[in-house]
Amino acid sequence: DPTIGVLAVQGDVREHLHALEASGATAIRVRRPAEVDVIDALVIPGGESTVIDKLVRAFGMHEPLRERLRAGMAAYGSCAGMIMLADRIEGGRLDQQTLGGLDITVRRNAFGRQVDSFEEDLHIRVLGPQPLRAVFIRAPWVEAVGPEVQILARVETGPATGRIVAVRQGPLLATSFHPEVTGDHRIHRYFVDLVRSP
Ligand code: GLN
Repeated sequence: DPTIGVLAVQGDVREHLHALEASGATAIRVRRPAEVDVIDALVIPGGESTVIDKLVRAFGMHEPLRERLRAGMAAYGSCAGMIMLADRIEGGRLDQQTLGGLDITVRRNAFGRQVDSFEEDLHIRVLGPQPLRAVFIRAPWVEAVGPEVQILARVETGPATGRIVAVRQGPLLATSFHPEVTGDHRIHRYFVDLVRSP
């Protein structure tokens, strides 16, 4: 089984560890640079991207993680994790940095205060015909994508219809929503498969 690290500085780490184990991976917490060397792939959980960024830098993991990503390590980012994998942020704090790798522009807290959190069934072709219940919590959306980026899902109802909320670029996967909280592990299984055969 591949060993997949969950970046464990802040956010809902435990749910991702569980979803990965249920999807056929060996899942470990990643909190220091030495742990970055032993993983085959990385998951960055939801949480608060400004805090995750600060702690990643404080724990000396910014460069080691960037280096692995540049070298082609697979990674999946959910919500704040999507922001961490994005090359560009709109609505970020001035000093906010990302790890980057995904040629996308994300907008933080894009859905606005009125719709802080919501759920929606999304039809995601790569997961099969059964819709996926997507939970959005102060979520970003993808404002713009580069030519290499594959769009996996868009919002299907309401004022944000058409907004991009799941993308893949080679070994990098990101969702605006939180599949780790629903018990439907198809996104994690899709990621583990991608780690097995990129
Ligand atoms: N709003 C958060 C951020 O900007 C993301 C929220 C989440 O991960 N659930 O980082």
